[in-house]
Amino acid sequence: MAKYEKFKKNVLEASLWLSEKGYFGSHRGTGGNVSVRVTESAMAITPSSVKYQDLKASDICVVGFDHEVIEGKMSLKPSVESGLHAIIYQKRPDTNAVVHTHQLYGSVFAVMNMSIPPLFDDVAFSLGTSIDVIPYALSGSSELAHNVAGKLSNNANAYILQNHGILALGKTIEKAILHAELLEKVAHIYYLALSTGKPVSTLPESIVELVKVVRNHEVKES
Ligand SMILES: [Zn+2]
Repeated sequence: MAKYEKFKKNVLEASLWLSEKGYFGSHRGTGGNVSVRVTESAMAITPSSVKYQDLKASDICVVGFDHEVIEGKMSLKPSVESGLHAIIYQKRPDTNAVVHTHQLYGSVFAVMNMSIPPLFDDVAFSLGTSIDVIPYALSGSSELAHNVAGKLSNNANAYILQNHGILALGKTIEKAILHAELLEKVAHIYYLALSTGKPVSTLPESIVELVKVVRNHEVKES
């Protein structure tokens, strides 16, 4: 059906770009997933167990937030993390795209179980005042979706998944990808700064408060 064509193309193009840039952790693997909101109650999402190199727009699944498959190939299952994506769209009306990756420096903080503090104002305005860690649960489990739901009220656009990877949210797919990129940039810099052993300077409290007000306003206005 042509109805979802544009959304499927967006998911495909985003997935290919993230894969080529190494965001999924391996070029030949099937880790990570990408989705966009298509209606008030459904999303287009990457299928499970298909190599990104082989992915076609017609392979992208359209799934309701109630897990019902609306459109998709019989031979393909939607991503195992569909429940996690669905809960984000339901809890965060400002979000129209979600990217889940296993990117390198984001994953360093995932295994250190360590949040990234506010270091740059431009990054904080985009991602939120802190990039928090969501507690570990098995990939694809309802417990993981539950843990994600428990953190979304901080109105951030990026999260670290403990011992797993990262999540980036956005108003558009372009923004969600940008947020994954910004997270990787700030995680890389924070890792390098920590490795010097010298104290790391964070943003002043007055700026953190300003960012919080702006971020809360952006989420509410959506
Ligand atoms: Zn994953």
